Amino acid sequence: MPDTIDTVRTVRDLRTHVAAWRASGETVALVPTMGAIHAGHLSLVTLAKTLADHVVTSLFVNPLQFGPREDFHAYPRSEARDTEALAKAGSALLYAPDANEMYPPGFSTKVHVGDLTEDLCGASRPNHFDGVATVVAKLLLQCAPDKAIFGEKDYQQLLVIKRFVRDLNIPVEIVGGLIVREADGLALSSRNAYLSPAERAVAPVLHATIAQVAGDLAKGRGADDASEAARFKLEAAGFRVDYVAVRDPDTLMPLHGPVKRARVLAAVHLGKTRLIDNVPVLAES
Ligand code: AMP
Repeated sequence: MPDTIDTVRTVRDLRTHVAAWRASGETVALVPTMGAIHAGHLSLVTLAKTLADHVVTSLFVNPLQFGPREDFHAYPRSEARDTEALAKAGSALLYAPDANEMYPPGFSTKVHVGDLTEDLCGASRPNHFDGVATVVAKLLLQCAPDKAIFGEKDYQQLLVIKRFVRDLNIPVEIVGGLIVREADGLALSSRNAYLSPAERAVAPVLHATIAQVAGDLAKGRGADDASEAARFKLEAAGFRVDYVAVRDPDTLMPLHGPVKRARVLAAVHLGKTRLIDNVPVLAES
C-alpha cells in the first residue's frame, strides 16, 4: 500500500484532524520543520512514531526568525519532495500554513525567553530566538500535541523551547533527537546545499574539531584552553569563527577549567554559509 499523507494549510483543518484522533483516544506528536527535508528531519519523525499514535510534521519557513541580511528568500523550498519523503517516513499529516495564516494582519505578539538567548547564536542573530519561540509557541497551541520533537542539532533552540514551555505551562512534552551526520561527520542541514564543492570538503573539520575538544575535556584538559585551540584550528582551516564554547548542558553557562558534564557548541561561517554544530562531553571519572 502506498504511504499517504494529508496536507492541511489552516489551523482549523489541522485541529479537525487532531480532534478526530483525540476522539478515538489516540496520541499525537508534532515535528516542526522549515522543510528541505533531509535524513535529520526524518529521524525526528521516526522517533516521534515511537512516542505517539500519529505524527504531524509542520513545514513553515518562518520569516520572524531570519535577520534582515539573512537567507529567508534563498532558503531552499521543496514541498513536493518533502511531502513524499514525510509520507514514506510515516508522518500522517503535513501542516503547511502560509505566512498570512501564521501571522494575520495586526499580529503583534512575541514570545521572548530571557537569559538563555543572550549569547552564543543569540548574540550574532538578534531577534532570532524571539522568532523561533513565537512560532513554536503558536505551532504547539495550534496543534496541541502530546509531544513535540526537536533536534539537538539546534541545541540552544532546544533549551529555549523547553524553557518557555515550562515557563508558560504549555501542556506538551519536549523531546530532543540526536544529530544525524554525513559519513564524514558533517551534521545534516538544509543550509549544506549552499556549500561549494571546495567548502563541502572543508566543512567536516567543524565536527572533527569540536569532537576533539570533547575528547580533550574528557581527559581533563581545561575548557578555555581547549576552546582556544579549537578556534585556532578552525581559523587555520578557513572558517570564520563566530564562537566555540564549552557550556553547562542545561543552563548554557560558561565553564572554565576541567569539566564533568558539558556541551561543546560552535558556530562558524564558511564562505556565505553559517554552520552550527555541538557535541556532548562526559568526563571520565
Ligand atoms: P529546520 O528545518 O532546520 O528548522 O529543522 C527542523 C528540526 O530538525 C529542528 O528541530 C532541528 O534541530 C532538526 N534537525 C535539523 N538538522 C538535524 C540533524 N542533522 N539531525 C537531527 N535533527 C536535525
